[in-house]
Amino acid sequence: MEKTIKTRTVTTKKVKAKTGKKSTEKKGVEKKPSNSKAMTKAQIQTFFERLREQRPNPETELNYGSPFQLLIAVLLSAQATDVSVNKATDQLFQDAPDAHSMYALGVEKLKSYIKTIGLFNSKAENVIKTCHILIEQYGGEIPQQREQLEALPGVGRKTANVVLNTAFGQPTMAVDTHIFRLGNRTGLAKGKDVLEIEQQLLKRIPSEFIIDAHHWLILHGRYCCIARKPKCGECIVSDVCNWKERFDYGAEIPELKS
Ligand code: SF4
Repeated sequence: MEKTIKTRTVTTKKVKAKTGKKSTEKKGVEKKPSNSKAMTKAQIQTFFERLREQRPNPETELNYGSPFQLLIAVLLSAQATDVSVNKATDQLFQDAPDAHSMYALGVEKLKSYIKTIGLFNSKAENVIKTCHILIEQYGGEIPQQREQLEALPGVGRKTANVVLNTAFGQPTMAVDTHIFRLGNRTGLAKGKDVLEIEQQLLKRIPSEFIIDAHHWLILHGRYCCIARKPKCGECIVSDVCNWKERFDYGAEIPELKS
């Protein structure tokens, strides 16, 4: 599926903040910061230079063909794998590619497309409500303001950050479980919840890397710096990582300077 999308300026109407909306997004992982030392500026620079070299054009692994489809895919991906979402949206986006056609499906029909994804009942309701708001208030387009995105049913801070960054090229940082773990573990950013990590990362990552940093970190966390048994022995940034236990997982021990 085509992932290249056009960004455009959308005229938006002001949205009243909603209260009591149901979100399927996880509320943030409350954990203690690790005891890894904070990375220095020089370490951070090298860290991202290597990740950029490894993946010059990082992309989300969710399939989508427009900002609308990205929003729906991210909304559906809460507490589900990208693979399971792609399987469901493959047919869904062919039959209902935009807000109008998806709204026309209605909740029950939409459920039949996404029933293999966790929490599909509440996600179907949120998607249809979101489509209704997009049609009524934005002519079926996706708003580009955080407050407007976060006012949509099922859309939390993380989803808004992904859409703003991936569809509209804004320097936002969506922190998921991989980035939370990786930040604390390596000393790149330390914090007890996702918001703290997000703010640390935005402050500490040099501007030349910020647009792609979200994808680099997610992919590194998903495939190398995994939760159990991280692959430190084959990690391209092990020499600038501050996790003390990396040597137990195969990272090369630096030679002592004589
Ligand atoms: S060395 Fe290990 S802990 Fe450090 S970034 Fe690489 S995989 Fe993660």
